[in-house]
Amino acid sequence: MTNLFRKEVHSLIIYLISGGLMGWLAGFPNIGLLLGTLIFVVKYLWQLQRLLGWLKQPEKEPPEAKGVWGEVFDGIYHYQRHQKSNQLNLKQILDRIQDSSQALRDGVVMIDNKGNLEWWNTAAEKLLGLRSPSDLGYPLTHLLREPDFVDYYESQHYLEPLIHASPLNEERSLEFQITMFGENERLLLVRDVTKMQRLEVMRQDFVANVSHELRTPLTVLSGYLETFSDHADNLPAKWQRGLTLMRQQSVRMQQLVEDLLTLSSLETSHFEPELEPLDVAELLESIQRDALALSSGQHPILLEVDKDLGVYGSEKELRSAFSNLVFNAVRYTSAGTEITLRWYQNAEGAHLEVKDKGQGIDPAALPHLTERFYRIDKGRSSSTGGTGLGLAIVKHVLLRHQGHLEVTSKPNVGSCFTCHFPLSVINCSKAHGLGG
Ligand code: ADP
Repeated sequence: MTNLFRKEVHSLIIYLISGGLMGWLAGFPNIGLLLGTLIFVVKYLWQLQRLLGWLKQPEKEPPEAKGVWGEVFDGIYHYQRHQKSNQLNLKQILDRIQDSSQALRDGVVMIDNKGNLEWWNTAAEKLLGLRSPSDLGYPLTHLLREPDFVDYYESQHYLEPLIHASPLNEERSLEFQITMFGENERLLLVRDVTKMQRLEVMRQDFVANVSHELRTPLTVLSGYLETFSDHADNLPAKWQRGLTLMRQQSVRMQQLVEDLLTLSSLETSHFEPELEPLDVAELLESIQRDALALSSGQHPILLEVDKDLGVYGSEKELRSAFSNLVFNAVRYTSAGTEITLRWYQNAEGAHLEVKDKGQGIDPAALPHLTERFYRIDKGRSSSTGGTGLGLAIVKHVLLRHQGHLEVTSKPNVGSCFTCHFPLSVINCSKAHGLGG
């Protein structure tokens, strides 16, 4: 029993004894006892009344009291002060977060779980033209109506940011990045990337121009080298070797320039590729023939194709992408290694698998494969005529067909490069089973 409780029991006993004694003296001991209890209860109710009165005006000092009630008032008073100081701390933290967000050059917009605007900083007002407070509570997509942005917002796939012209000034480019948090709430970050975009365009133009300018001199050089090679028998052996090397390198340079031009045109062309109904089975058969010629018939190349499955796409671009994968399988695996091309459809879309049983790829290299000029073994790649641009071309072609590339590989077991296409690019007249 705690001290306080003991004191309260003592106080009750004193009330009972006093009441009983006075009642006994007056000749009514029972009524005296009852009165004593009643006074004790009334005292409790009075303190309760004071407590309720104070709780309604918590800013006032707590009422003075002794015993259990004094402890109750003090306890509540300290708890309230502790809560107040916590609230103050939290408010200060929130104010600081809001102040620092206000100071950011990037726009920050908070959107609630119904898609309505909840808060934004000054930069967001400047970048997006949001007005405070009149836009508060409005759906974001009513204020930013660009179809590309609405698609991005509704897709809920926010791994990659969206780059789009500013709604206020067509000439400025903005990067939109959405992050989900809490319960289906969103945080939108907006950055002005006009400078970066201009630099990127300059880089692309520069590469395209240089490649284009190099094309003619290289054609002339290769042509002469070829003519000289035809008469190489009349030259000393030392010169013959030099000539052969020059021929090989000029062919490599031409290949490099061609690949750079292809990549530039894929990157810079903002237009959708010219889509035509494509017979993928026929395309793969033709690539199989080219690959057999490249491997001099030394690789068994198996075809497992769904002949009825077609896609809408650009034949030129898809031929280049698929050939790159199949030729890589020939070039990076030893003679006799089996290569399988599998073209099939499932509920997700259409897929082309190029599978080999070669040396495989180190897992650390997998994320870098589609970077320009990335080669795992530079010596090997050069000797096989690789430019390091093949998989970058594949990635861009697939992106332009709303698809993507997936690479799985196990060292010493083999690699599998899969081109995934969405259902939307499947050619309905050839597709089956999906009612498309
Ligand atoms: P390259 O023109 O050098 O072949 P790619 O972009 O086509 O460039 O390929 C990048 C690198 O990926 C290659 O240098 C090679 O090391 C590796 N690679 C590509 N395909 C395969 C494969 N089927 N097996 C093993 N390694 C491969």
